[in-house]
Amino acid sequence: MRAHVDSDVCAGHGDCVATCGTVFTLTDDGYAEAIADEIPLAAVESVRAAAEHCPEHAINIDEG
Ligand code: SF4
Repeated sequence: MRAHVDSDVCAGHGDCVATCGTVFTLTDDGYAEAIADEIPLAAVESVRAAAEHCPEHAINIDEG
C-alpha cells in the first residue's frame, strides 16, 4: 500500500500528520506529503483513518 496527497487539493490543515505522523509530513510550503515508500504494516490503519478524515479528501490510497 502507498499513499499520495493531491497537492492541488490539500489545504494544509495537518490533520493527517496528527493522525499518522510516520507517513505524512508537512512540507515547508505548508502542505502535506506522504512517504514514497510502501507503508509499514503498523501504519496501515492510521493511514486509512487519515484518508477518511482528511477534510479536503486529498489523500489517495493505492492498495497495490
Ligand atoms: S488532512 Fe488533508 S488537507 Fe489536511 S494537510 Fe493532510 S492531506 Fe492536506
